[in-house]
Amino acid sequence: MIAPARGVTRARRRTRLNIMTIKMTRRPVLRMLGLVAALAGGGAQAQDPFARERSVLLQEIAAMARDTGAETGRPVFSARVMAAMAKVPRHRFVTAPYGALAYANRPLPIGHGQTISQPYIVALMTELLDTKPADAVLEIGTGSGYQAAVLAGLVDRVYSIEIIAPVGNNAAALLQQLAYKNIETRIGDGYNGWPERAPFDAIIVTAAAPQVPPALVAQLKPGGRMVIPVGGDGEVQFLHVMVKQADGSISTQRSLPVRFVPLTRSK
Ligand code: SAH
Repeated sequence: MIAPARGVTRARRRTRLNIMTIKMTRRPVLRMLGLVAALAGGGAQAQDPFARERSVLLQEIAAMARDTGAETGRPVFSARVMAAMAKVPRHRFVTAPYGALAYANRPLPIGHGQTISQPYIVALMTELLDTKPADAVLEIGTGSGYQAAVLAGLVDRVYSIEIIAPVGNNAAALLQQLAYKNIETRIGDGYNGWPERAPFDAIIVTAAAPQVPPALVAQLKPGGRMVIPVGGDGEVQFLHVMVKQADGSISTQRSLPVRFVPLTRSK
């Protein structure tokens, strides 16, 4: 069941703490905008009981995009990305104890010590990928399958690798249940990429590595983009945006400080 509004409000208060971890401040007026959106309801809600919560979440994401714009270079996320975020039923990707927090702008545990990322971070990473409809995208770290589902609404093909078999199998089953036809998943060590499906227009890594895995750079098309959190155990991680130039050289831009689970290696 969906949480009562009080639960959501509490969750949102906690979200702001969470946001602090990436040095954010939120303007009170933005909270009011969220409230207005929450009160606005709308017809879509009749068919989709989560439409209102999702639209409030989108407002929060837009507000954070503005607040972090100077650091990310993306003060406004594209309509394409926001529409893709609006379509995915995040409540299906969170585990039962956290159902009430599905549309809070915060990461949540999904079991096996892993997490579904904070929606704002999912939107930001998706935005930074600059995908086009014909793209093939590789994701490392399927987790809940949520990020893959967001990408599936934007590109032609999504390939996603998960190293923990039960986590990856759960996600695969859910994505099939939700009828995503353009996502292929597999269990394996994403450090090595997916040579059989390479090259990729874009690569998104949703676990942090001390260094960028060389195989991933190799599997990126010229002109391709990779978004990856970089930082070792106990270090501050930064989101990196890498672009492979036509001549194969790589340009890297450092974006926000973030906190991701580590990219582990198969033994
Ligand atoms: N994208 C996910 C969030 C992922 S959390 C979502 O939308 O829910 C990071 C995931 O990366 C975890 O499930 C973790 O098990 C996985 N992971 C860590 N190291 C990996 C590796 N070497 N290869 C593939 N997946 C890995």
